[in-house]
Amino acid sequence: MEVSKIYRIIVKTNLTMFVQTQKRICNSISVYFAILLFSSILIFPHAVKAQLYNKELANKYDLSIPPPSEKLDPAPKWLQKADMFTRGNGIWKDYKFILKDTLITRIVRRREQYKSLQVTEQYPVETINSFDGSLVKGVALISHVPHSKKVFEEAHKQGFKVIPYLHFTDIHTNYADQDVFLFQHPEILVVDKNGKWVHIPMDGTERLFRFLTCANSPSYWKLSLAYVKKMMEWGADGIFIDNVGERVSCYGPKFNGTRNPEFPPYVHEHLFPDTTENYAWDRMLQTIRALVKSYGEEKIIVLNSGIGTPLQKNGDCCMWESFIYSWAWEGRHHTWEDVKKKARNNAWYTNAGRRITAMSYLDRSRKGVKEDAFWAFSAARLVDFVWWTTLNGTGAEVLYRAHMGKGVEPLTEAHKIAYRIFENGIIVLNDSDKEQSIELILPARFRAKHLVNLFNNQVVKVTKGTVKVAVAGKTARVYTIPEKLMQ
Ligand SMILES: [Zn+2]
Repeated sequence: MEVSKIYRIIVKTNLTMFVQTQKRICNSISVYFAILLFSSILIFPHAVKAQLYNKELANKYDLSIPPPSEKLDPAPKWLQKADMFTRGNGIWKDYKFILKDTLITRIVRRREQYKSLQVTEQYPVETINSFDGSLVKGVALISHVPHSKKVFEEAHKQGFKVIPYLHFTDIHTNYADQDVFLFQHPEILVVDKNGKWVHIPMDGTERLFRFLTCANSPSYWKLSLAYVKKMMEWGADGIFIDNVGERVSCYGPKFNGTRNPEFPPYVHEHLFPDTTENYAWDRMLQTIRALVKSYGEEKIIVLNSGIGTPLQKNGDCCMWESFIYSWAWEGRHHTWEDVKKKARNNAWYTNAGRRITAMSYLDRSRKGVKEDAFWAFSAARLVDFVWWTTLNGTGAEVLYRAHMGKGVEPLTEAHKIAYRIFENGIIVLNDSDKEQSIELILPARFRAKHLVNLFNNQVVKVTKGTVKVAVAGKTARVYTIPEKLMQ
C-alpha cells in the first residue's frame, strides 16, 4: 500500500544515515542530515531559551499555542502496560488507496501566458471492506492504519487501538498530501539560502514529488493541525509521526517579494521570528501533542524520533527502528549488551512513564524466524521496551497474546543468562553459546502451579515456588501463566 511504501522509503533513508554511510554517498545530503542529527543530541534543545511567537500571526492563522514544556508526564496506563505493537499487515480486507479526481481551479501555464483554469487534481482516499482482528489478537496497538473513519470504528468494535501514520517534514506535490495541495500553499515550503525550494533527500537521491516543509510557517501549522484534528475527530487513538529529526534552515522571509506567476501572490512568514527551524519544530510538536491530548489523556503520540534524541520528549512513546533485525542486514545486528546500554541511556525517559518501542523487521524466509521473534520479544520486554513487529507467518504469533504485566523484580543476569519475573510470567534469555539450566525462586505473590512455554506450548511445573527451565545457547524463551494468556 502507498502509505507503507512511503514508510519503507523513509526507513531506508534513516538506516542509510546510521548504517551505510561509510560505503555509500559520502558527500550526500543524507550524511549532512546525519551529522546534524548527531550534533543536535549534544546541543538541542536544552540550551535554547523559550522564544516568543508573533501574536499577530498566531491570531491570523487562528493558532492556540501552548507554553513551552519540558515536562515528562507519564504515558496513559494502557500504554504503560503494552507488550507489543504491530502494523497489522494483511488485516484490512479489500484495502484500497485511490486518488480521487477532484475539480480545482489553479493557475496553469498556457504557452506564453498563465491563466486560472479548472483542472482535475487528486485527493487520496483509503477504504476497506472489513477488518479481521483475529490475526493480531492481543496486540496493544495497531499503527499505520488506513486514514479512514470506518477503519477506526471497525478496529474499536473488535477492541483494538489504532493510530494513523502522519508526516510533517515534507509534502507530496502530485496529490493532496494530508489534505494540502502544494500549489494552493507555496508559502509552506522550505526556502534555502539561495532562495530555492528543497527536495526531500532520500537514500542518496532527491524525490521529484516531495518538497521539504517549513516548521516555522504558521500556515503549515494551521494545515497540519487541521489534519490531526480530522484524524482525532474520526476516532483515532492518537497518531504516529515519522521523520522527527533535525530540520534544515529556512530563509523564506528573506525572499518575499519574488513574484512567481504559477501562484497567486503569497508571503512566507515565520511564527517565531528570531529562532531556528528546530525550535519551531519542537514547539509545533508540542502544539500537536496538546491537540491530541485534548481528545483525552489516553490518546497518544508515537514518534519516529529515534531514541536518545531530544525531540522524543514530545511523544508518549518513541521508536527504535530496526531493532536487532532489519531488512538491511541478515540475522542479528545489535547485541544483548547494546540493548541494555540503550535502555540505560534512556532511563530518564522510561522512568518518567514514557515508553520506547523497539521495531524489528523479521525475515519470514529465514529458517530461524521463530527463534528470531522470541529473541527480539524477550530482549525488548526484559528492558521494558514495547516490541513492534508483524508476526504473521513467523510461527510466533502467540506473542501477540503474551501479556507479561509489570516486572515484579528487576532484570537479573549471571553467566550470560538473563531473566526477569513479571506479574504474568517469566522471560529467560541465554546470551551464552551453550545450553544452560536455571532454577528460579518465584516471589510469594506469583501464584501459579504451572507455566506454559510459549515457544513449544509445553507445560513447565512450578514446584514449591520454584521453576526450573533449560534454554539453548543464543535463544530466549517466554513462559506465562496459562490463564493470563489472552484467549
Ligand atoms: Zn520558513
